[in-house]
Amino acid sequence: MLSALRPRKLSPVKRWLAATITLAVAWLACAAPAGKPAAPRPTAPPIAASSAPHLEASPAASHAPDEHDEHDDDDEPPPVAPSASIVAPATAAACNPQQAFEFLERKSYIPVKTKKAEHDKALKFRTQNYGWVKGFGEQSWNPTPAKANAVAITVFGLPITVNKKIIPALRCVEAEIQSSCAAFPYKPGVLSGLRDKNTYRAGEVTNHLYGIAIDIDPLLNSCCGCVKKWQASPLCKKKAKTIWDRMSMPKCWVDAFEKYGFYWLGHDKLQDTMHFEFLADPDQIMVTPGAAKPVAAKQP
Ligand SMILES: [Zn+2]
Repeated sequence: MLSALRPRKLSPVKRWLAATITLAVAWLACAAPAGKPAAPRPTAPPIAASSAPHLEASPAASHAPDEHDEHDDDDEPPPVAPSASIVAPATAAACNPQQAFEFLERKSYIPVKTKKAEHDKALKFRTQNYGWVKGFGEQSWNPTPAKANAVAITVFGLPITVNKKIIPALRCVEAEIQSSCAAFPYKPGVLSGLRDKNTYRAGEVTNHLYGIAIDIDPLLNSCCGCVKKWQASPLCKKKAKTIWDRMSMPKCWVDAFEKYGFYWLGHDKLQDTMHFEFLADPDQIMVTPGAAKPVAAKQP
């Protein structure tokens, strides 16, 4: 038996092969970021600069520049049991294209000190539709906590916890990407949805607290207007003509999300390219059975 453990003489070709494999294994071990799973690098072709949104010259936000200061898994609430009744895929014909409501967009945020009624309008809409978050708005608007509406699902082949009301919209996005984005292959490695902590300041509230925001591959899709930790990303240091040069996700994916009511924070001063939030009407995600054509949602 001992003879099996003795080193055997290898031919030069086998020695070269063994050395190459050893080097490759060592390189892979070093390349993976500590403590985080390495997301697969997509092979999307470059996107024309003309199709890019406006890139803010100065990424500094006047308020609340601290979205995404923490992306650790510790921020995620405990996993929620998946529900079999809401994992059915959507068909494109049943999906109702919608635009995000402007009054819910981050650029429309009104501090409570400026106009309380206007400030409360956006907060009330979120609370009534997705649940109450302690410290934001009144419990009387909706006594059900937002976390009680949290559901664990699989999207793009990855686990995520989101508010159950936006699941049909995510299914519509998935179906749209499957049918329209084959020419721009991209496979996400990490998703993040519902969170426990608010990452904004000055009274603003992150949509992650309601479970209606999702982040895709933070290490591959930069947030150069966020806190310093995120600004330090090599993606934010590199020379870039457009915001698309600082992210891996293809524009086709952004278009698919926007088609079904998600707002992309890549448009915002934060340049938060990993982040989408559902800001349309959750009651109009699917076409109403019997309706002749999709109904455009009315802005409250
Ligand atoms: Zn986010």
